[in-house]
Amino acid sequence: MKNDCIFCRIANGEVPKKFLYEDENIVVFRDINPCAPVHLLIVPKRHIRSINDITASDKEIISEMFIIGKDMAKKALVDRSGYKLLFNVEKGGGQEIFHLHLHLIGGWQKKS
Ligand code: 5GP
Ligand code: ZN
Repeated sequence: MKNDCIFCRIANGEVPKKFLYEDENIVVFRDINPCAPVHLLIVPKRHIRSINDITASDKEIISEMFIIGKDMAKKALVDRSGYKLLFNVEKGGGQEIFHLHLHLIGGWQKKS
């Protein structure tokens, strides 16, 4: 855990936050500044800076993040209408919090 990292502090329960999902490796909570009706963050408890820092030993955590993302999309009822699962990578890629997180974004109105 990195003390000056807000997502480490949230994921480790130091900052009160409602988790929509939690297991020993991962938490899911709502984005504080949602860019769509459904905007969740899938966050590993272990501090990893960004996708640039993952190694072969992170295979399991990365695949678990996607499986949980898919399950949370179903739970939020956006699985059929569609959604995005994305990583912003480093500053130029839009990353602002340097603790790995997968965005689940969806729930837009259907175009007729
Ligand atoms: P990034 O731009 O790093 O990919 O995404 C960081 C996301 O975290 C942003 O969408 C931002 O709104 C969200 N965020 C930043 N600080 C907090 C916080 O303290 N709590 C929550 N729930 N979300 C946060
Ligand atoms: Zn962290």
